[in-house]
Amino acid sequence: MLSVEEALERILSEIHPLSAIQVPLAEAVGLVLAEDVIAGEDMPPFANSAMDGFALRSQDSQPRDGQPPRLRVTGSVAAGYVAEHAVEAGTAMRIMTGAPVPPGADAVIQIELTNYDGPQSTWVEVLQAVAPGNNVRPAGEDMRSGQTILRQGSEIGPWEIGILATLGKAMVPVIRKPRVAILGTGDEVIEIDQPLAPGKIRNSNSYLLEAAVRHAGAQPIRLGVARDTVESLREKFSQAMDSDLILTSGGVSVGDFDLVKNIMAEQGEINFWRINMRPGKPVAFGHIGSTPLLGLPGNPVSAAVTFELFGRPVLRKMAGHTRLSRPQVEVVAEDGIRERASRRHYVRAHVEWRDGRFVAHTTGKQGSNIMTSLLNANALVIVPEGGVEIKAGETAQALMLDWPEV
Ligand code: AMP
Ligand code: MG
Repeated sequence: MLSVEEALERILSEIHPLSAIQVPLAEAVGLVLAEDVIAGEDMPPFANSAMDGFALRSQDSQPRDGQPPRLRVTGSVAAGYVAEHAVEAGTAMRIMTGAPVPPGADAVIQIELTNYDGPQSTWVEVLQAVAPGNNVRPAGEDMRSGQTILRQGSEIGPWEIGILATLGKAMVPVIRKPRVAILGTGDEVIEIDQPLAPGKIRNSNSYLLEAAVRHAGAQPIRLGVARDTVESLREKFSQAMDSDLILTSGGVSVGDFDLVKNIMAEQGEINFWRINMRPGKPVAFGHIGSTPLLGLPGNPVSAAVTFELFGRPVLRKMAGHTRLSRPQVEVVAEDGIRERASRRHYVRAHVEWRDGRFVAHTTGKQGSNIMTSLLNANALVIVPEGGVEIKAGETAQALMLDWPEV
């Protein structure tokens, strides 16, 4: 049996980042930059005021005979405009936050540190001496023309969007989103709007996986359910050929093995693996034509957990990410974990931050058919292979699916 790490390594060695495309800036959030972004201009583009106040020459702010100096106010400059004349010795100009500092001035005194004669002021008394550069944001203070601001491979979040907007990047080079064809299998599986009939269950996996794919930043295409026949599988796979990944659930256990294997042999190549983990021992990986296929187990919990461990890293690698797996933290298993097994066990758990440490509680019965064990779980506690016992109060590693609320 393969370890989880070996299986993931083998899968990822055959997955490559997709091609780069240009997308409008607002659509770039969550995607990965395909090229470095270089500033074409200084930011800010001009020296501007950090405060509402008066622009002046700093040497004119020194007290005279112990008295605040009084300067003549020659005009005013608002954000979005430029001063019509320079600030000369003994004068000042009213200035607003973000307005360009007029020529001649090297400092701004904030309005709270002045006395002045009303809105259309003609004079101002400077109540505190200021140094050169006071309240002035110099041109290029944030970014310099020619400077590399964002690196290829970085994920674009809201803050990067703001920077790209500042730099005037209306179109952004990104790695395109993977398109994922999602296929359920099994004669027992019916559509979710159908009433249950004897022996039938609803297709929960395709919907769970569709949501998980979307959560992982990819674009799902739901192909419905293939019957347990070669013809049905062949027909469904033919619809999936132009996707970047085919994601199936079910049909990879021993009884189904030959059926799917026949099609794989006919249309591509595939490995069926027994992975030393629980839930989710059987996982298939290979290609149909040139399209990668990841075959997850049918049990809903197994499908959910194996998607986390293998599917999500595959999609992240395709989308150009370099961090592919979730973060791991050390947790205290407050009640202990009775769910030991000879295989490595990924136990659904709720982790919270309490008294300076992460504390984990399992979310109930852990059978791979018990979907309610997924509810309230924000982590998978990893119980090592070999029937290792984790006693109450002992620590374990946990894969964090979400950050605990505090
Ligand atoms: P299989 O791997 O096809 O033998 O399926 C294993 C278990 O998962 C069986 O109990 C199936 O009924 C169940 N199963 C398979 N596909 C789905 C699905 N799409 N939704 C919910 N359960 C499924
Ligand atoms: Mg089946």
